Amino acid sequence: MDSAQRKPHAVCVPFPAQGHINPMLKLAKLLHHSGFHITFVHTVYNHRRLVKSNGAASLSGLPGFRFEKIHDGLPETDDADTTQDVPALCRSVLEHFITPFRELVARLSVVGAQGGGDVPPVTCIVSDIIMPFTVVVAEELSVPVVLLLTMSACGFSGSAYHHQLARRCLIPLVDESYLTNGHLDTIIDFIPGMEGIRLRDLYSFYQTTNRDDIMLRFNLEKLKLATKASAIIVNTFTPLESDVLEGLPEYLPKILPVGPLHLLLDRVPKGSPLHSIRSNLWKDESECMAWLGSRPPRSVLYVNYGSVVGVSPRQLAEFAWGLADSGHPFLWVIRPDMAAGEGEGALPGEFLKATEGRSFLASWCPQEQVIRHQSIGGFLTHCGWNSTLEALGAGVPMICWPFFADQRTNCWFACRKWGVGVELGGDVRRAEVGELVREVLGGEKGEDMRRKAAEWKRLAGEAASPSGSSSLNW
Ligand code: UDP
Repeated sequence: MDSAQRKPHAVCVPFPAQGHINPMLKLAKLLHHSGFHITFVHTVYNHRRLVKSNGAASLSGLPGFRFEKIHDGLPETDDADTTQDVPALCRSVLEHFITPFRELVARLSVVGAQGGGDVPPVTCIVSDIIMPFTVVVAEELSVPVVLLLTMSACGFSGSAYHHQLARRCLIPLVDESYLTNGHLDTIIDFIPGMEGIRLRDLYSFYQTTNRDDIMLRFNLEKLKLATKASAIIVNTFTPLESDVLEGLPEYLPKILPVGPLHLLLDRVPKGSPLHSIRSNLWKDESECMAWLGSRPPRSVLYVNYGSVVGVSPRQLAEFAWGLADSGHPFLWVIRPDMAAGEGEGALPGEFLKATEGRSFLASWCPQEQVIRHQSIGGFLTHCGWNSTLEALGAGVPMICWPFFADQRTNCWFACRKWGVGVELGGDVRRAEVGELVREVLGGEKGEDMRRKAAEWKRLAGEAASPSGSSSLNW
């Protein structure tokens, strides 16, 4: 056996959405850096978009780092550049993914067993926790599977106490009136580390009256198969979520906090070709970096709702006039598929004139770089876990406008526990937007949040340092 053949070989399988691909790719790069051969599995749909946004070279891999693709089972939409429907993807994960994935792993195993080539035998599967079919294939192959949790530990804990919530008849909702009759304000006092949280702040998919709801089924399937994994790797750092991590249900396997992954990745030397592997599903508008460079320190509000959130024309107009009214400069990312498919075109006509000289609009940006830029003073965010972690890692306070999944829980922790966030009402009113922006960028509360955020930045850096808690779990 030559040295390539002796390498451990991890097959990495992200859920096919931006907020899952990014952390899985970081984990895969770190594994490659520590000597693993990597096969990284994209869907055909995302692979095409990645080539379009980043160029084919960014997916040609490097020795020992290869990409494969499988079909997602959804109708073909060759020219679309849009976020796929999450429930439809989850249904497909439950029903369609296992067959092409089994075929792929079988093919890799045959190649590996033949020896002599540069693909060693598959030794483990590293799978997103919400791709549970991988556990079945790993069992068939008799290789271990390690799961990556790309959401927060607090968000996951909310979803992992599903059975206890159901036994107490808190979920699913009895009927539609339970959405407005105060039931969602029930205080949940039995989830460790989350005492005082309301039912409405837990996993958003609980807010259904349908026992067969696909997202409830999906959650149960994820939890059932998670018990068979060797370990769950969590993209968080212990000081941030220690109570929650310790209180995760005992039926789960070993939990390993190894985040923030983007900070751990700083240990890969700057010149390494690993950094040329990209994962943007949209093309970056990196011109915004020069614009940020022309702004004073901590003066700019960064506005971005991630890769899935859609906003109505009314909400977009309220955000626009709130930002205009705040008087502060802002960098606002409006995905082409975000505002009823019209992107920036959906903005009110007078708005651009009103904010000329202090606004920069983009359809996608290099967020990790943006958020670390010294001119950023605050982040208006939907509280996706990657965005939250990137803000904490950069010491940036947040205006939280959560949308779904674990985002309400992240918002609750950011505002109530970590002291780095203020919440913007779901309805979006321009006056509130303007007021919060002024408060965060110029007010006393903003100063206090900035101090706390700076402390989390320090702790995140410490956890990711060579002797820190996340590195020791590595
Ligand atoms: N992101 C980016 N540029 C953008 C918007 C988002 O690079 O203009 C990245 C961001 O840094 C994060 C991911 O996309 O890593 C979004 O993940 P998150 O969990 O915050 O939200 P989701 O998209 O899953 O709702």
